[in-house]
Amino acid sequence: MDDLMRLDDRLNADQRLIRDTVRSFVADHVLPQVGDWFEEARFPARELAPALGALGVLGMHLEGYGCAGTDAVSYGVACRELEAGDSGVRSFVSVQGSLAMFPIWRYGSDEQKEEWLPRMAAGSAIGCFGLTEPDHGSDPANMRTYAKKDGSDWILNGAKMWITNGSIADVAVVWAQTDEGIRGFVVPTSTPGFSAPEIHKKLSLRASVTSSLYFDDVRLPASAVLPGVTGLRGPLSCLSEARYGIVWGVVGAARACLEAAVSYAKTRVQFDKPIGAFQLTQEKLAWMYVGTAQAGLTALHLGQLKDAGQLDPRQISFGKLANVRAALDIARQARTILGGNGITLEYPVIRHMNNLESVLTYEGTQEIHTLVLGEALTGLSAYR
Ligand SMILES: Cc1cc2nc3c(=O)[nH]c(=O)nc-3n(C[C@H](O)[C@H](O)[C@H](O)COP(=O)(O)OP(=O)(O)OC[C@H]3O[C@@H](n4cnc5c(N)ncnc54)[C@H](O)[C@@H]3O)c2cc1C
Repeated sequence: MDDLMRLDDRLNADQRLIRDTVRSFVADHVLPQVGDWFEEARFPARELAPALGALGVLGMHLEGYGCAGTDAVSYGVACRELEAGDSGVRSFVSVQGSLAMFPIWRYGSDEQKEEWLPRMAAGSAIGCFGLTEPDHGSDPANMRTYAKKDGSDWILNGAKMWITNGSIADVAVVWAQTDEGIRGFVVPTSTPGFSAPEIHKKLSLRASVTSSLYFDDVRLPASAVLPGVTGLRGPLSCLSEARYGIVWGVVGAARACLEAAVSYAKTRVQFDKPIGAFQLTQEKLAWMYVGTAQAGLTALHLGQLKDAGQLDPRQISFGKLANVRAALDIARQARTILGGNGITLEYPVIRHMNNLESVLTYEGTQEIHTLVLGEALTGLSAYR
């Protein structure tokens, strides 16, 4: 499909090379099998993680420790191309790079960085990020997971829920209350008392591992705490990184749905005409394209702000809210154009549509990002 608005003309040569490299990786390693992974509810982490590491996308926006050190637009473009394959693959990369590696890189000790970052960049160690709890999702400040000092050790007790990569992780970055406020802990998943059962029966993000985490008197050395941050700003800064990737990623999911719908509309004949020749279909396609291109512009603008060091978390809320909603609308419209075929995994559309329901909820629900914008506009907080 032509890039009518020529948005990618605004990428530089390095960013276009990353786009083409990740797009061809997705074409070779994701698209041929992702329908089966989704149907079988599995994410082939042990094959895909090292392949994504070799591709250079794990922690790609971080400097040093084997990370690529790219600019923010390049990271966004990679997320876009990965999510054109599947939101589950982009989620894996976001969690690994922005939620697990980023806090170690930003707030960790030299020993923590040396121990984990090179292996995580290579995909030979997998990370997860434990913030959400069974009873505390949108209001993590009230979390109950608690780490108590015992001599110089910490004893961790509590539970987390909906944790991407949880059951396949080698290391968990866990946020817990302490007597000093919320702290982050780098927890090897082999530590006695740690368990991570997988959550089943999901109808969204099926090609992604989602788990609970349980901590039953998990004893951690003093060196397990992230020394560089105390308080909720630690996890929130990680979420800003990951949400930025979502702003770009969902443009890829929307584009994949639009491309599937255009291609189908040109070949599916009803009433002796391709359905794409009917005005009602063209109206849908035109608005789907408008939505995809506008979401792409938003992502690019936020990327350029981030590269200039000027990105405000409220702007990320704008992008997450606007782009995920646009992508979900586009996926639903595409589904109608494909008729009955729209409900099968033979086409990518319903897979993207179902995935985007999770993307709408995780990393701050659409309601929470709406409240962020409401507060930005009025100066009045409406969370409580
Ligand atoms: C597939 C998947 C993967 C995930 N991966 C991770 C992960 O890796 N790590 C992690 O820590 N978490 C993860 N999450 C958790 C995710 O971030 C939470 O689901 C999300 O923050 C919402 O929390 P909740 O599900 O408890 O919903 P709740 O907070 O209970 O919200 C339920 C509803 O109430 C609304 N609501 C809540 N408060 C308000 C308010 N003040 N005003 C108006 N409406 C409100 C919400 O918007 C929502 O519509 C994942 C979730 C999913 C589904």
